[in-house]
Amino acid sequence: MRPRLLLATSNENKVFEIKKIIGSCIEVFYFKDFGLSTPEEEGGTLEENAFIKAKYGYDSTGLPSVGEDTGLFVDALNGAPGVYSSRFAGKNASDKENREKLLYILKDERNREAKFITVICFYDGKRTEYFKGILEGYIAEMESGRYGFGYDPIFVPRGLNRTLAEMSPEEKNRISHRYRALKEFLKWFIRDL
Ligand code: IMP
Repeated sequence: MRPRLLLATSNENKVFEIKKIIGSCIEVFYFKDFGLSTPEEEGGTLEENAFIKAKYGYDSTGLPSVGEDTGLFVDALNGAPGVYSSRFAGKNASDKENREKLLYILKDERNREAKFITVICFYDGKRTEYFKGILEGYIAEMESGRYGFGYDPIFVPRGLNRTLAEMSPEEKNRISHRYRALKEFLKWFIRDL
């Protein structure tokens, strides 16, 4: 029987990416399969938020759970918006509002270096394990591309000249912060089965 795993999220964009990376060797569920929604992200770090989601997932379903939290860390803003990336332009801000606020703040800034960091927390009632993935790059001057979500239309990975939103889902999945964190997790999870 295939091992089962709960992705402790209701973000369909993330589920789409993660399912493609994990493939079919693991049976993957997410919050919507159980009528659950993502708990409040009250932590002050990506690790705390990833743990809150994983623990809630395990406590609600009994399945080994993976919580994931991602932030965009901009050098010229001393790492902001970081763990607050989803609320950068306000509590219920849309992705577009967040992107527009960031472009506005950086409009006269020459240092546009930034990185995405994804932290994954695995929790199954006994074990708590963390995995991290980083993608370095810079913030573009304007939006471009129609793929992806969040800050993808304004983020250019280092060494490339296209935003993540100009890449196909497959291309993004080969280099992304989420892919890098998941790869570390899968190495550990599959070895431990
Ligand atoms: P969270 O991990 O769901 O809390 O996401 C934090 C913020 O980062 C949200 O605004 C997301 O839209 C954004 N975000 C998360 N992952 C990505 C990504 O892979 N690309 C671009 N933006 C992302």
